[in-house]
This record gives sequence, structure tokens and C-alpha cells, in this order.
Amino acid sequence: HAKKQGHGQISYYHSFMNEQLKSRVNLIKALHEAVEKREFDIHYQLQVDTQTNKVLGAEALLRWSVMQVPVPPSEFIPLAEEVGLINQINEIVITKAILQLKDAGLLGGTIPKVAINLSPMQFQTSSDAHALLEIASRFASDLPYVRFEMTETAVMENVDEALVILNHLAKLGASLSIDDFGSGHSSLGRLRELPIDEIKIDRSFIRDIPGDPQGEVIVKTIIAMVETMGLDLVAEGVELSSQAAFLIKHGCSVHQGFLYARPVALTELLESEPLMKLLGIGQEKSGNVTP
Ligand code: C2E
Ligand code: MG
Ligand code: MG
Ligand code: MG
Repeated sequence: HAKKQGHGQISYYHSFMNEQLKSRVNLIKALHEAVEKREFDIHYQLQVDTQTNKVLGAEALLRWSVMQVPVPPSEFIPLAEEVGLINQINEIVITKAILQLKDAGLLGGTIPKVAINLSPMQFQTSSDAHALLEIASRFASDLPYVRFEMTETAVMENVDEALVILNHLAKLGASLSIDDFGSGHSSLGRLRELPIDEIKIDRSFIRDIPGDPQGEVIVKTIIAMVETMGLDLVAEGVELSSQAAFLIKHGCSVHQGFLYARPVALTELLESEPLMKLLGIGQEKSGNVTP
């Protein structure tokens, strides 16, 4: 009996492994197909200056679905890095985001800048770096309206390589932002050497304010530090008006979060009344009633 049970367990384990493997293999296959057909969508999340009520930019966030089921970027981006598809995906995001916003007549105007996430891989090997710089130079005339975001960890783990690439991108006219700031361990000295324009406070710190004394100190310290360095600052993941109020009170007025806007497709952005209002367009629609 015991033997039979044991055997059952083993075959269960094997079939479980097979399922896992099959789904991973299938996901990789689907990812290859999606890259080939460029079947990704981009959602845009507005960044708002709460002092002037102006939109300062929009972050491009990649969206992918397999058989109508969305796969989160936290899952497929690492997979794409692993199987060598990240450069192609990066090229798709840069091309689609710039062309979509330009075609809509928004880039550099109503949406002053589009923020595009770079993957840590792009700082690790020179072929990945070259691929990035090649795409960037192809869009050289649009780069004044592009801000590349890379996480603190991605940059700091390869700081010498990153410095060369970031200097190139800056020279081409793009602005640069450190994403998820505070979640890694950077040396402030090294951070000052980088040609960066902006720092984004990681969402995990925004979650703790107001109320958590340690969280409050961290946020206030980051705000003071970024001000000293003369960089722009964005708080990400602002969901509550109490969080917004705390940030504004302590000197951080540019916010990105569900409180203001969720990431949405461009068509949805242009159909949403509150988002259009945030962008300052569409109000003149009631013009035919005026005297
Ligand atoms: P990220 O660059 O830090 O992007 C911000 C993430 O926070 C997005 O998740 C966004 O939907 C989410 N978010 C924004 N506001 C709020 C809020 O108020 N509350 C909460 N709970 N979440 C908020 P998303 O779209 O799932 O992206 C996750 C991560 O995947 C991104 O983090 C970025 O690291 C990566 N990613 C997304 N698109 C791309 C891409 O095109 N290329 C690369 N390399 N990475 C990407
Ligand atoms: Mg980002
Ligand atoms: Mg971020
Ligand atoms: Mg984040």
C-alpha cells in the first residue's frame, strides 16, 4: 500500500513538473510570437504637478495578454530578459510610444514628455547597450520629449557601464530618471556623478505616509536630498489624498498614482472626461452654447 502511495506521489510530482514546464515553455513560445507580431499594448499613466494642475508627462507601461488573459509586466519582463527578447521589446515600446503620442499630436505639447522604462539588462552587456543606443539615435529628434527610467539597482550594479550609456542618452537629448528610488542601496557620491534629471520615490515609501514615523522621516529625507541635488522629484503610487497632502506639505508636488490617473490605453485616455480635463483639453466642446 505504502509503495503504491509513494508511486502516486512521484507521478503526481512529475505531472505537476510537466504542467509547470509546459506553461513556461508555452509562455516563452507565446512571448516570441508576440514580439514577432509586435502584439503589445502600451498604457499611459499621467504625472501631475499638483501646484499648477498641469500634466508634466506620461509613463508608458507595457501590456501583454495571452488568450485575453493579461500577464503582468513583473512576470513577462524578467522572462523576456532571460530568453533574450528584451531588446526587441524595448524597441517596440520606444517606437510605439513615441509614434502613438506624436500621431495624436500630444507629445511635446499636452503631454510634454513620455517616460519609458529601461531594463537592467541594458546596462550589463555592450551588445544590449548598443541596441539601446541604436534605437535611441533613430529617434534623436524626439528624444527631447523622452525620459528614460531605470531603477536604482539596475544602474548601481553596473555603475561604470551605466555612466557611459547614460551620458550617451543625455547627449542625444533624452532626460533620465532613477525609478523606484530608495529600494536599492546607492552611494550618494556615485549618484551625483550620473547625468540624471529626476528621481522617483518608490511606492513602498508612499504607502507608509502619513502616520508611520520612520516612513515619514525617509520621505522627508529623500525630498531634502533631491532638492539639494537640484533634481526633479516624482512620488509614485500616490493613492490617497492624505498621502498627497503630506507630500505637498513637505515639498514634493509632482505625483503619479491612482489618485490622479490609472494607466490606460491612449484611446481610453482620449475618451475619459476626467483625464481630458487633467490634460486641459476638450473644455471648448461646450463652445456652441456661448453667446
Ligand atoms: P514602474 O516603472 O515602477 O511602474 C509603476 C508601476 O506602479 C506600474 O505597474 C503602475 O501601474 C503601478 N502604479 C502606478 N500608480 C499606482 C498606484 O497608485 N498604486 C499602485 N498600487 N500601483 C501603481 P505595472 O504597469 O504593473 O508595471 C510594473 C513594472 O514593470 C514597472 O514598474 C516597470 O519596472 C516594469 N515595466 C512596465 N513596462 C515596462 C516596459 O515597457 N519596459 C520595461 N523594461 N519594464 C517595464
Ligand atoms: Mg517606471
Ligand atoms: Mg517606478
Ligand atoms: Mg515601482
